[in-house]
Amino acid sequence: MRPARPQVNSLPASPQHWQAELARGFREPGQLLAALGLTAADCGLAPGAAAAFPLRVPRGFVARMRPGDPRDPLLLQVLPAPDEALTAPGFVSDPVGDLDSVRTPGLLQKYSGRALLVATGACAVHCRYCFRRDYPYGEHSAAAGHLESALEAIAGDPSLEEIILSGGDPLVLADHRLEAVVNALDDLPHVRRIRLHTRVPVVLPERVDARLLRFLGNLRTRIVVVIHANHPRELADPVVAGLRALGAATGPVLNQSVLLRGINDSPEAIIDLSRGLFEAGVMPYYLHQMDRVSGAAHFAVADEEARRLIAAAMEALPGYLVPRLVREVPGAPSKTLLGSFGAT
Ligand SMILES: *Cc1c(COP(=O)(O)O)cnc(C)c1O
Ligand code: SF4
Repeated sequence: MRPARPQVNSLPASPQHWQAELARGFREPGQLLAALGLTAADCGLAPGAAAAFPLRVPRGFVARMRPGDPRDPLLLQVLPAPDEALTAPGFVSDPVGDLDSVRTPGLLQKYSGRALLVATGACAVHCRYCFRRDYPYGEHSAAAGHLESALEAIAGDPSLEEIILSGGDPLVLADHRLEAVVNALDDLPHVRRIRLHTRVPVVLPERVDARLLRFLGNLRTRIVVVIHANHPRELADPVVAGLRALGAATGPVLNQSVLLRGINDSPEAIIDLSRGLFEAGVMPYYLHQMDRVSGAAHFAVADEEARRLIAAAMEALPGYLVPRLVREVPGAPSKTLLGSFGAT
């Protein structure tokens, strides 16, 4: 394969550009619907549905939605729905046991050799199915004055060879803050890999600018970027350009998706997403069975259905483009593989 050529010329040069774009994002359901030519009645929008977890979405992501379609798969990921007020058995506020795995506030460890640093509570987009939608970022994030103790714990534990920056989304941190955290980790000799879990390159491709690429490309540690895209239409041209540039600058770029009813629960969506990711130099990694967070039961897909989708993807794609179907089981020593059974 000819290596993907970074299209640096198409990338914005000004470090402030992405922050302006982030600030310009929609925060009002009415504003978002008006931009799409929809009304609250079209979408069954409930007043006050977003009080606890407000709407947030960058304009560039909205531009990829189909105007006039209340079932648009990108819109459904961000628009507060009346169903969020429903309770469902087994759907809870901390579905994956985050708070049982706290090493220091903001530093979570569930698996051997790697720990996850909640670098910030902020995100560029608010995904309605987010398993951390109720997470107590106020006390349990490295942004809340707990960075020093987290870094001390990592420095004192040579078994931690990989640190995952997550959140929230680490790429909404301003450059100087991101660089301070990553440089501190890069200075610890036993840390061999720094992983960034981020949806920002997908929803705010302006963030992948020259400064970020230069910074991430010049570290001792190996960088692994794990993006989060759920539907092929999320991969617009500027996103693909940014992902190729990221891959060229850093190393492996992987994708995790969440399986969501009415959004990507079809063979075509899963298959086309894998194809689109590969075009952008990104390898499919995980397809997550959704974590059972309160307010998101309407997005859940049954395990048998999920296995059928993976079986269909295996029939259509080379093996390396099929994501691993997993669920996070609290207390398990790794993500739990669900496997697949035949398509018929
Ligand atoms: C999911 C997760 C990881 C990463 O697991 P991988 O299988 O290595 O991708 C690490 N730490 C925590 C706390 C996690 O939830
Ligand atoms: S970007 Fe990730 S952490 Fe942020 S709301 Fe979406 S799923 Fe949750």
